[in-house]
Amino acid sequence: MQKRLLLQEYIDGILSGNRVILSRAITLIESRLPQDKALAQDLLEQLLPHTGQSIRIGITGVPGVGKSTFIEVFGKSITAQNKKIAVLAIDPTSQITKGSIMGDKTRMEELAHDPLAYIRPSPAGSTLGGVANKTRETILLCEAAGYQIIIIETVGVGQSETVVKEMVDFFLLLMLAGAGDELQGIKRGIIEMADAIVITKADGDNLQSSKNARLEYLNALHLYPASHNNWQTPVLTCSALNNIGIIEIWETIENYVQKMQLSGFWEQNRKKQNVEWLYTFIRQTLEEDFYNNPVVKDKFSGIKESILSGKMLPIQGAKELLERSKDAN
Ligand code: GDP
Repeated sequence: MQKRLLLQEYIDGILSGNRVILSRAITLIESRLPQDKALAQDLLEQLLPHTGQSIRIGITGVPGVGKSTFIEVFGKSITAQNKKIAVLAIDPTSQITKGSIMGDKTRMEELAHDPLAYIRPSPAGSTLGGVANKTRETILLCEAAGYQIIIIETVGVGQSETVVKEMVDFFLLLMLAGAGDELQGIKRGIIEMADAIVITKADGDNLQSSKNARLEYLNALHLYPASHNNWQTPVLTCSALNNIGIIEIWETIENYVQKMQLSGFWEQNRKKQNVEWLYTFIRQTLEEDFYNNPVVKDKFSGIKESILSGKMLPIQGAKELLERSKDAN
């Protein structure tokens, strides 16, 4: 295990925008080791006054829709405005194949070398706590490090989108033209969550079908009830390959931010998200404490075996573990 720094070293490093220290702090926050918890908690508390001022953007879409190509070009357009951008990619590393859906480190290579950008893949490889386990905390660390735009990227096939929606200000859905929603594994609920839909790869032979898809989605959106923040979800097209339509997407987000801040929805939404965070934090802490409990660690595999061999019902196993964990406290 990498040696931990002192609390003050993390704080100074992050506040001065040191990316190496930021990465080490994220590793600390993501750590499941009980001995790291107090330090991680102290760090977050100390940094809290320096957080909250970024625009948090969720970006989702199926593998191949063009997320990394888009984020690279979008990110470059942000850094060209002398703004700092962080990209947190939540990689739902497959439990079955142990393979990574998002691919290797070559993604967003150009942006990764930009001094105003920071890219952090967060493999969600563990079953405990699932996806986006410490993403909220990671957002706060990036904000303290001065990142003004924070992108949370997910693959739009699972339930991670609902979780991400709870922690961002703006949710961007990338879609392909010419492939049905079902084919893209996009659920109706995800479309409903989107603050903007963007049809990607609107170039070459794909240009006309992208324009058609745009109109189809616009029509489909009319069928949804008006959103409670009075925002009309726009449908845009872009070509990351030719750098077309990228600025318009940024302008849409800026327009959203301006309108929502003016109406008070921004603030209200962040407060609501904080309450969600409270629940999540309690759930995570209880779960982590439970699995870290020495008695549970000792008994778990035996009980699991009994369930597998049909000697015990899951509910009995759970009850026994829960009771014994209480005795051990
Ligand atoms: P991701 O899996 O969603 O991150 O998708 P990628 O960004 O890796 O893109 C998947 C494929 O689509 C790659 O072969 C890209 O070169 C291609 N692609 C991405 N954006 C565009 C675009 O704007 N136009 C065209 N024609 N191809 C694109």
